[in-house]
Amino acid sequence: MAEAFTVLETNILKSKGLSDDQIAAFSNVGINSRDDFKTVGDVATLRGLIPDLEEGTAQTVLEWALGHSLGSPTNGTAKVVVESPDAVYCIHCGTKQPKDYESGDLCISCGKQAEPILSCYWCGASGPGRFCRNCGAQFVPMGELDLAIHLKREGIAKDQIPSRLAAMSEAEKEDLWGRVRRLR
Ligand SMILES: [Zn+2]
Ligand SMILES: [Zn+2]
Repeated sequence: MAEAFTVLETNILKSKGLSDDQIAAFSNVGINSRDDFKTVGDVATLRGLIPDLEEGTAQTVLEWALGHSLGSPTNGTAKVVVESPDAVYCIHCGTKQPKDYESGDLCISCGKQAEPILSCYWCGASGPGRFCRNCGAQFVPMGELDLAIHLKREGIAKDQIPSRLAAMSEAEKEDLWGRVRRLR
């Protein structure tokens, strides 16, 4: 065997919650030293090599090997990285925006407005983000703006329009489009 974890490395790995079998599994895929983890680089890659490794454990091990936290900066322990549902991706270049991103910020990568500017079905104002800054209505997709305006005319409450639209089937939307066109 050319390489193997040192006694110290083995003990550290055990302290991170790894079993002897899992440590042996590392060796089987060619991970024999702390530096090898640096080559692996991220949790997904490590779990791709060793599928039965728990995500939290994989992250703890990598954080040790890489010497920095992969998760939230204030918490270097076994914290599972979960993709935030609110993550914002630039509409121009697809770059994920940083955690402290606020609606209206420019893309960190390409410098354009990261989010689309949407019009408010309720008050007619427009702006970036998910909610109207003027009246607080939740924006609907650009293609459904006319439908939302029509629902407003039909007397649907402001906070119910986005969920009403989201719950509609394609057929119901077509029907609603028909009514929108008749009124034009
Ligand atoms: Zn961009
Ligand atoms: Zn508004």
